[in-house]
Amino acid sequence: MQETQKKDIKSMTLPQLREALAQTGEKAYRAGQIYQWMHVKLARSFDEMTNLSKEFREKLGERYSYTCLEPVRIQESAADGTRKYLFRLGDGNLVESVWMKYRHGNSVCISSQVGCRMGCRFCASTLDGLERNLLPSEMLDQVYAISLHTKERVSNVVVMGTGEPLDNYDNLLVFLKMLTDEDGLHISQRNVTVSTCGLVPQMRMLAKEKLGITLALSLHAPTDEKRRKLMPIAERYSVGELMDACAYYFQMTGRRITFEYSLAGGVNDTDEDAEKLSALAGPMGCHVNLIPVNPVRERDFVRSQTQRIRSFQNKLEKNKINVTIRREMGRDIDGACGQLRRRTMQAAKEGDSLLELGGRKTC
Ligand code: SAH
Repeated sequence: MQETQKKDIKSMTLPQLREALAQTGEKAYRAGQIYQWMHVKLARSFDEMTNLSKEFREKLGERYSYTCLEPVRIQESAADGTRKYLFRLGDGNLVESVWMKYRHGNSVCISSQVGCRMGCRFCASTLDGLERNLLPSEMLDQVYAISLHTKERVSNVVVMGTGEPLDNYDNLLVFLKMLTDEDGLHISQRNVTVSTCGLVPQMRMLAKEKLGITLALSLHAPTDEKRRKLMPIAERYSVGELMDACAYYFQMTGRRITFEYSLAGGVNDTDEDAEKLSALAGPMGCHVNLIPVNPVRERDFVRSQTQRIRSFQNKLEKNKINVTIRREMGRDIDGACGQLRRRTMQAAKEGDSLLELGGRKTC
C-alpha cells in the first residue's frame, strides 16, 4: 500500500479509532491503548507502544501513517527564553511554532496552514500564498513535539501562527476537540485561543459549536476604509458584519472576544482611531490586544512610535476598555509570523542545507 493512501491515525478521534479497529476484528480496549500512546504519552512511533505485540504494531504501520513532526531548527531568544521551532512535515513542507514561558504557564503558538492566502499586507506568512492545509495531527504534533522537547507541560495553546485557522475549518475543529479531549492532553478550552482575520460565516459556525475557547479577531482598523488598506478580507466582510458575528459568538458561548490591533505608524494609530475602536469594543466588553507592528523586510509598514502606542493605550483605558500590549517576545529571533520559515526556505534555495539538529532524531 502506498504511504499516501494510508489513513492518518493521529487525526482520528477515539470513537473513530474504536470503530476502525472493531471492523478489523481487534479487541475494543486496543483503541484506548493506542489513543493514550499517541495523545497522552506522546509516542513518536508505533514502535514505542510496548504494550502492543510486535505483530500488531507492524500491522498498524501497514495500515496507517503516523504523523511525527521533525524539528529542523530551534532558535531561542536571549532576551526572554522564547523559542521558535521550525518543523518538517511528512511531505517536506516546513511550519513554525513558538514556545513562550509566562508566569501563569507555558504557551504554544501553532500554525494552521502551510502559508496563507489571506494576503494581509503587513504579514510575512502570506507572501508566497497558500501551500496546503494542516491536518489535525499536524496541528496537534506541534504541541506534542514542543512539550517533549521542553519536558514541560503546555497549559495554553494559541492558533496564531502561519495560516488562517478558519480557512481550514474542518481540520481545526477536529484539532480543537482532540486537544481539549479528556482522553488526550486535556488542555482546558479556556486556555485555547483561535485568531481569525474575520471570516464571518465560519465565525458563526464556530459559535454554534459552543466551545469554551477564546476567539480573537484581527481587527487592525476601526473603519472599512482603513481596514481595506491593510487586509484584503475587508473587501469581503464589513466591520459591521464582523461586529454582528462577534456579538453572536458572545451570545452563543458566553466568551468575550479579543480584538487584535497591530499598530502601524501613521496608518491606524491616531487618537481618532482609538476613539472609534473604543466605540466598537466597549459595548461588547471586548479585550483589546495591541501589537506594535513587527516590520517585515518585504513590506513598508513601520512600528508606531512608543509615545504614540502609549497615547493610543491611554485613550482606550480612559474609555474603560480592557487593553494590553502584546509582550514583544523573541524580537531577536525572526519574531514576526512566518519569517523563520521564509528565511530558511530562501537559504535552502540559495544552496544552504538545513541546519540539522544534533542528537537523537525524534522520528
Ligand atoms: N490568520 C490569523 C492568525 C494569524 S497571525 C489572523 O489573521 O488572526 C496572528 C496575529 O498577528 C494577527 O492578528 C496578525 O494580523 C498579526 N500579525 C501578522 N504579522 C504581523 C506583523 N508583522 N506585525 C504585527 N502583527 C502581525
